[in-house]
Amino acid sequence: MNEKNIDIEKFYSSSLYKKMNLNSKPEVKSVKILVADDEELMRDSVKELLSLYELKCILACNGREALDIIAEQPVDILLLDLLMPEVDGFQVMKEVNKNYPDIDIIVTSGEATFKNATLAMRHGVKDFLHKPYIPSELIKVINNLIEKRELKCKLEEMYSYIKTSEQHYRFFVNNSPDIIYMLDQKGYFSFVNERITELLGYSQEEFIGHHYANFIHKEDLEKANFAFSTLSGNLDVTQKVEFRMLPKYPGSDTLCFESRSILVPLNSSDIPEKSIINNIFGIYGVARDVTEQKRSEEMIYFQLYHDALTELPNRILFKDRINFAISQANRNQQKLAVMFLDMDRFKIVNDSLGHLAGDKLLQEIARRLKQCIRDSDTLARVGGDEFNLMLADIKSKNDVLNLVNKMTLVLEEPFIIEGNEVYVTFSIGTAIYPEDGKNSETLIKHADMAMYNIKGKGKNGHEFFSDNLNDLFQQHLSIENGIRKALQDNQFEVYFQPQYNVASEKISGVEALIRWNHPEKGLVSPNDFIPLAEETGLINTIGEWMLDTSCQILRDWIRTHPAFLDLKLAVNISASQIETDNFCAFILETLEKYKLRPEQLELEITENVLMQDMELVVSKLNRLTRHGINIAVDDFGMGYSSLSYLQTLPLTNLKIDRSFISTIQSSGDKNSIISAIVAMAKELDMHIVAEGVENQVQMDYVRDIGCPTVQGFWYAHPMPTEQLKLIALQQYNAAQSA
Ligand code: C2E
Ligand code: MG
Ligand code: MG
Repeated sequence: MNEKNIDIEKFYSSSLYKKMNLNSKPEVKSVKILVADDEELMRDSVKELLSLYELKCILACNGREALDIIAEQPVDILLLDLLMPEVDGFQVMKEVNKNYPDIDIIVTSGEATFKNATLAMRHGVKDFLHKPYIPSELIKVINNLIEKRELKCKLEEMYSYIKTSEQHYRFFVNNSPDIIYMLDQKGYFSFVNERITELLGYSQEEFIGHHYANFIHKEDLEKANFAFSTLSGNLDVTQKVEFRMLPKYPGSDTLCFESRSILVPLNSSDIPEKSIINNIFGIYGVARDVTEQKRSEEMIYFQLYHDALTELPNRILFKDRINFAISQANRNQQKLAVMFLDMDRFKIVNDSLGHLAGDKLLQEIARRLKQCIRDSDTLARVGGDEFNLMLADIKSKNDVLNLVNKMTLVLEEPFIIEGNEVYVTFSIGTAIYPEDGKNSETLIKHADMAMYNIKGKGKNGHEFFSDNLNDLFQQHLSIENGIRKALQDNQFEVYFQPQYNVASEKISGVEALIRWNHPEKGLVSPNDFIPLAEETGLINTIGEWMLDTSCQILRDWIRTHPAFLDLKLAVNISASQIETDNFCAFILETLEKYKLRPEQLELEITENVLMQDMELVVSKLNRLTRHGINIAVDDFGMGYSSLSYLQTLPLTNLKIDRSFISTIQSSGDKNSIISAIVAMAKELDMHIVAEGVENQVQMDYVRDIGCPTVQGFWYAHPMPTEQLKLIALQQYNAAQSA
């Protein structure tokens, strides 16, 4: 410590001194003064003098005693006579200088030679008083020494404070979880904490003196440049920016940081001296590693906007992309296409191969479809087996058709799922912006309607939206609402169509067929509303109503007349009814409710029940046949070509579809399919009904091929139940009287 530099007043007023919480001047420390003089008079007079100033002193009558006292107790100032017997002042000061350097020595001597003075100074003596001296001179010298001692003490405190504070600073800065940095006005690092090594692998030296651009990911550099440049000249702003920083070692992860920075004057008192440049500003910043946070944010974002199974965009993102594409198309006068793709018969795959296989198939489909589209297009999965596709910037509808062809080609190849070959087709609808809709909702809705229409036409195809479809859709909507109302207002009615025994030409049974007495449209055919009721699920309520009502009618007839005791009642059952949990229970309960024999009831199912979970269908139908209920396959020959299901299902009856019968137009016509069906049914011991027999020729034909039962306009149209009741009674009475 260079004492010459100490300006005590300046020190007391410094901020550091204030920070040290030492707001007042230090108290005069009680110093201990040892007076070593062989002259008693001298010792006593000094003692007296010092006591006047409340200064404590100890007396030693020679050099030896002085050294003994010093060895025993702390002494601050030594007033030392030079000439003493035995151990003189020089020996004492030599010893003290060597072993007790904190003791300040003032020599008091009558021998004030230059030589003595030099020698004394060389031994670290602080002052030299020539005896006899003026008392105030001694007091001044002592006070001076006391003040210096106090100052020295304070400085030591200050340096230790600075040292601790510096250690803390270093500790905090280097152990900060964040990177702390300083940039000079040109963007070169002038400081960076040790954290940089741990996070990015660089040493501090590899950073300091280098420009930030060397370490920031090039895609984020523009952002960083902008953020740092906006700080310029603005001391009140904190700039926040996110950027990725490049790690030293190429294989390591690129980390993402959120940096907050402010402008600081580089001549600030807290900056190391070498950085001080007057009136120049630099950037102080703290960069936090937000890589993990970013990753989880990205993950959440991804999950929010993507389908987990195929990783394709989901409905939300898809809409967003359309809206964006619309605004671009608008600006550039472009067209875009929104397509709705619905896989045909996905349920069969799912039910027969299991959901895992279904999932794999969907993933594979997504992969193949992606191959067909451009980067600017968006493929999304919006439902179980539904995909949406947006083609940005199309020139004409031909672009869509080309893509449909391309997709058809890639989908034609069988998918190998868990060793099974699966063939996939799609029903696709397309709406074009701007003509088919101005916003994402309308475009998707219209594409959906077009798809829906192709589904209705037998699936596996593509259709563009047209205004007619809109009308059709409205029609459907009004039918759907109408059905609900019809159920409430009892607008449905049961009609019976008789089935005749070919040999006896007598009514053997009736098929219950629904009719809708529409308040405005009159009698509506089931063909016009059953398919829609099936799609909407309303068929379940309708079906229950039909079964209950027709059983009730038969029960009432049986109660009034024996003619109906053996009459068979056939009721049509839709596939989705079989799926319901209480299907079997409901049927058995209804029979029980109306006290009908199970053998009297026949359930007509169509081949599309095969599109369901076969095991479940078979077990439910088996349960019913065990009770004696008959199961007929309706419209046989129209659906699946595979006949193997005939053996799987517990079928008792087979109704040949009328389209086969209608091929017989004149006598001599033959239809080998009908012959084959009849032969097969006989083989399987199934009863056969020929549907749609309209004329004598057809009647003769079915009789010739040995079909036992017919149902058709030749005998009777479906009719109100009361009408059928009369016919049946007449027939019964005629038979009775014969
Ligand atoms: P389906 O079960 O095959 O019923 C026979 C249909 O053929 C009836 O049409 C009947 O009127 C018609 N038909 C009978 N003989 C002839 C004929 O000689 N020539 C012609 N051209 N047609 C004949 P309908 O009553 O219009 O019923 C149509 C279809 O609606 C039914 O076909 C059946 O699939 C469905 N359906 C009717 N009622 C119900 C019901 O209560 N539930 C369910 N799920 N479907 C029903
Ligand atoms: Mg039927
Ligand atoms: Mg039929």
